[in-house]
Amino acid sequence: MKLSIIGSGYVGLTTGACFAEVGHEVLCVDNDEAKIARLLKGEIPIYEPGLSEMVLRNVAAGRLRFTSDTHEGVRSGDVIFIAVPTPPQADGSVDLSFIEKVAREIAPAIDSYKVVVDKSTVPVKTGEKVAETIRRYAPDADFDVVSNPEFLREGSAVADLMQPDRIVIGVNSDRALARMQKVYEPFVAPVLVTDINSAELIKHAANSFLALKISYINAVSAICEASGADVLKVAEGIGMDKRIGRSFLNAGIGYGGSCFPKDLAAFIAIADDLGVPFDLLKEVQHINTRQLDRFVKAIRDSLWVLQEKTIAVWGIAFKPHTDDVRCSVAVDLVERLLAEGARVRVHDPKAMDKARQLPIAGRIEFCESPEEAATGAEALVIATEWPEYGQVDFAAVRAAMQAPLVFDGRNLLDPLTMKRFGFNYRGIGRAPALPLS
Ligand code: NAD
Repeated sequence: MKLSIIGSGYVGLTTGACFAEVGHEVLCVDNDEAKIARLLKGEIPIYEPGLSEMVLRNVAAGRLRFTSDTHEGVRSGDVIFIAVPTPPQADGSVDLSFIEKVAREIAPAIDSYKVVVDKSTVPVKTGEKVAETIRRYAPDADFDVVSNPEFLREGSAVADLMQPDRIVIGVNSDRALARMQKVYEPFVAPVLVTDINSAELIKHAANSFLALKISYINAVSAICEASGADVLKVAEGIGMDKRIGRSFLNAGIGYGGSCFPKDLAAFIAIADDLGVPFDLLKEVQHINTRQLDRFVKAIRDSLWVLQEKTIAVWGIAFKPHTDDVRCSVAVDLVERLLAEGARVRVHDPKAMDKARQLPIAGRIEFCESPEEAATGAEALVIATEWPEYGQVDFAAVRAAMQAPLVFDGRNLLDPLTMKRFGFNYRGIGRAPALPLS
């Protein structure tokens, strides 16, 4: 099929590449001309495992093209996917101006029957608004609007798109459904067909539930610390229950990234707006904030004063296997340490370039290796659980540090191994078994 994707960021570019990989003819559109220029030169603007090779392979095969011209995108596609940002506003509600703008831009270019698919994460009833907007600017246009929320995870986006857990199609016309089924025919995955409103709601409800699971285990981790239990064992015991499952029960310094905080705030705002407040989710947010507060307090309790202390931070991406630093808790943590006067030395395997664009970049020392970051440090903080941080030469790290303090914000390391290397180790929800001296 001929598919166009408006918005070629993490979701749009990866989706476009995967659609091309299964044989569709894909045109990726973006109004960021510099991004399109890079893509046309074969440069991939984001890091995502397997993405670069897949893009280059499909460009070479003539199945994947790029343009900054939305009209060309609309004219050449049978199905037009919208994958533009839906950022939060100050009150948590979603800024839908990008979606509204694309709807206005699409309208005059519709020259035959088109299926306009919203892949961005949007509040329930946005599909109705998109249809209304297109009709306002092109009263005779022949089109249907579909909601097809995206569930990919950054860091494994290609795999998630090629083998999704499920494909949700929110649709109110048979003609549009037939086209969507053809789009997804090459993928082996259960397809759930719903009305548009339900599909939109599924995405916010799913992400909020995942955030809730993280906050749940984080709240339990505080109880573990106070009682002497080990949150890893507790999570294992809870997770062995098939009704609960082990995933998303990893205690740490909290969830971040461009989706969970924004989608949770959005769902709270949507519920408030509909007159059915969802207070449970407000507590999920509070637990997440408190988790970082507790972690910073633990560092302060050990170092007493952070002013002029050198602290190594391993990991700045919001999670491993991505270069994305948007709303990363690691960035929040570095900001807190800087605010208290600490000198912060940062390493990340993939996110250094993105981190160099952060407002705080000028106040951070960027290091080429984790060992270099740890050199001379009075404390080492693990903020992102990159697996390679578990493989470093800890004897060398111990020797290079001024003081052997490790704060493992992601429970990446084994406490006993760290103790054997001579570290005072503190994880999340497992401190009492290994008290700091
Ligand atoms: P992104 O910022 O990486 O990409 C969005 C792209 O849209 C940018 O390249 C931007 O230049 C482009 N754009 C903006 N306005 C445009 C316009 N009028 N015409 C053409 N291009 C335009 O964002 P993203 O992370 O890909 O997220 C997109 C949507 O998908 C959001 O609603 C997000 O919540 C949702 N989502 C994201 C993820 C994720 O893991 N990143 C997962 C699922 C869903």
